[in-house]
Amino acid sequence: MKEEIVKILLIEDNQDDSDLIQRRLGKSVNVLFDVTRAKTLEEGMAQLASDTPDLILSDLGLPDSHGLDTVTKILCEAPQIPLVVLSGFDDEATAIKAVQAGAQDYLVKGQTEGTQIERSLTYAVERARLQRELEQYTQEITCVQNNLLKILDNNADAIIVVNAEKQVLFANPAAEVMLGSKKQDLLKKPFRFPLKKGKTSEIIIGHGREKTVAEMSVVGVDWEGKPAFLASLRDVTERKQAEEALRESEEKFSKAFRRSPEAIAISGIDDGKFFEVNDSFLRQTGYTPEEAIGKSSSDLNIWSDPEQRAAMVKTLKEKGVVSNEEYNFHTKTGQECIWLFSAEAINIGNQPCILSVATDITERKKTEEALRRSEEKFRELISTSFDGIIATDPEMRVVVWNQGATRILGYTEKEMLGQPIMKVIPEKDRRKTEKLLTALNRRRPGQSPNRTLEGACLRKDGAEVPIELSISSRKSGESHIVTAIIRDITQRREAEEKLRKVDEMKRDFLSNVSHELRTPLQSIGGFTKLIMNGQVPDEATQKEFLEIIDRESQHLGSLIDNLLDMSRLEAGRFEVYKRPTPIRDTFIDAVKSFQSLAREKNITFNEEIPEALPEMEIDAGRLRQVITNLVGNAIKFSEPGGSVTVRAEALKDAVLFQVSDHGIGISPETQKHLFERFYRDEGEVVRGGTGLGLFISKQIIDAHGGRIWAESRPGEGSTFNFTIPLGEKTPVIAKGGNNHGKENTGN
Ligand code: ADP
Repeated sequence: MKEEIVKILLIEDNQDDSDLIQRRLGKSVNVLFDVTRAKTLEEGMAQLASDTPDLILSDLGLPDSHGLDTVTKILCEAPQIPLVVLSGFDDEATAIKAVQAGAQDYLVKGQTEGTQIERSLTYAVERARLQRELEQYTQEITCVQNNLLKILDNNADAIIVVNAEKQVLFANPAAEVMLGSKKQDLLKKPFRFPLKKGKTSEIIIGHGREKTVAEMSVVGVDWEGKPAFLASLRDVTERKQAEEALRESEEKFSKAFRRSPEAIAISGIDDGKFFEVNDSFLRQTGYTPEEAIGKSSSDLNIWSDPEQRAAMVKTLKEKGVVSNEEYNFHTKTGQECIWLFSAEAINIGNQPCILSVATDITERKKTEEALRRSEEKFRELISTSFDGIIATDPEMRVVVWNQGATRILGYTEKEMLGQPIMKVIPEKDRRKTEKLLTALNRRRPGQSPNRTLEGACLRKDGAEVPIELSISSRKSGESHIVTAIIRDITQRREAEEKLRKVDEMKRDFLSNVSHELRTPLQSIGGFTKLIMNGQVPDEATQKEFLEIIDRESQHLGSLIDNLLDMSRLEAGRFEVYKRPTPIRDTFIDAVKSFQSLAREKNITFNEEIPEALPEMEIDAGRLRQVITNLVGNAIKFSEPGGSVTVRAEALKDAVLFQVSDHGIGISPETQKHLFERFYRDEGEVVRGGTGLGLFISKQIIDAHGGRIWAESRPGEGSTFNFTIPLGEKTPVIAKGGNNHGKENTGN
């Protein structure tokens, strides 16, 4: 069975040769040759146009073409169709040339015996087919190669082929860029990085100032028949930088986490189990990492109030954050502490967690509390201070005004806050005060010592109040606050004034005393000499003189007694000795010596002492002293022609004694001070006296539990009274002298 049909275009002008060939071909067992014959080249070429044969079998010598020309023309017309030429025996050399020119084979006429022709033709067809296939294949290969080159050219990775001698055989444009050299400078030059087949390594390529980090993968390849390395380099600089940045930030974070002074913990939001805690957390809670990690906050009983945790978790789930809440916690030892707590909801591997940050503020809270208390105490102290506390700002406006200030100056805190301090400074002191405050405001703190001054303030009612003030200034924030503590010194001033007066009176007293002593002495001495020298022959006159001597010596005696009493009073040794005595006798005895004096001064002396007066517990000598003083004064301050009346009266529970005169009287001012020591009416200095009599009298009456007082009208006269209580156990010893006799009437 013939498997294959091979179409042959036979170009042969000789009929015999043509027939012979056709016969031969017809005998082929395997191939069915379908032969079309043309007698000339032109005819053959025309034939080609209508049908394409598998092979052209052409004689070299044709009527319209000869020798190699025929070959050239056919190959030109049908280059793809295999050509076998026929030649005569004598023309074999031309036939060989024809094969060299492109024919597949040649056959020599007359030698085409057996199967040679069949074989030659089928081989030629086969060869041509193979050739065509090869060409097509080559074309395809070229195409693939071009595509590959395109890929290599455009590849972002650098691709370099290096031979076994480490010389660069190939480099794509990316390699030029990465290695920073042109292709011509790379090729045939050594490749400087170590190459290991099947390995990926990191290399650092430095050109210029920039460094490129490349990841290099090396494989073994066959390059032009020789083993070579194919290295592909990928620029990983940015990735490396990003990785480095990430690593650094992670390191920073973990450092911050570990070293943070705040307690940081990561725990499961639902079970409260700790994954991670930092050193501060451990320090503050007292646990070791082994004790804390993997345990829940309730295992460790960390939350003092688990409800607080529940509330915190609720907020966290709703809002995602909890910030600066104060919660109470327990340490391992059960100690309570307060944490300022912030937290954020985070996810770790799909598990919802809490990242919490806490600061132990227990100590701070304690300090704050203590400070608050001491501030409260201080505030209370200020507001309730008896002294006035006033502070002013640099504009000299009041910023502090306490109750003490209100008490002293009358203005309330509400009325004064924000008001200029000058409101309470008297007009005359304002410039001075302004200067002082300005100076204090300019001083740096610590530079101004506290100063204590005396001055005056204006009260709400307009009156000036003498004050003592101590001033200090301190810095409060940016500005100065001047604080003054003021004290009302009205009473002290008064007391000082009184002391000053007493001092003055004491001075006067000393000069008076010498005068008071000398006057009676002179009169005693004078009259005694007259009598002794016999110059007073008349007995009546003598008696009169002796009476004067007696009175003066008595006066002298009482003066000396007063002085002694005074010194006893001042020394606290003034004593009263009481015994039961008929009081009338004492009164009569005391007044009788004044009869003659009154007469001398032409003063009517009335005595109204009732018979019925009780026996009383008295110091008779001392009472006499009182009566002598009162009656003596009454006569002394009466003008001639006047009258003095002494009377006594038994009252319900006391005995009253009264001495009235119609003398000069006592001014209301003097009345106030009558019973004070050394006090004498300035205008009455001429009448002498030491100012001790009434003071001592009051001490004596006081010692008897009675009272002494005066009623007087200037120009009309005075009445001095005293009472001695009946049956009263009066003090036996009276210590006095420091009584400044504030009350004028001794009650
Ligand atoms: P002295 O011992 O100096 O008299 P007193 O203490 O007895 O001092 O009296 C004090 C002052 O009281 C007298 O200096 C006088 O100014 C006034 N005085 C006392 N008694 C009378 C009086 N009867 N009439 C007017 N002034 C009197």
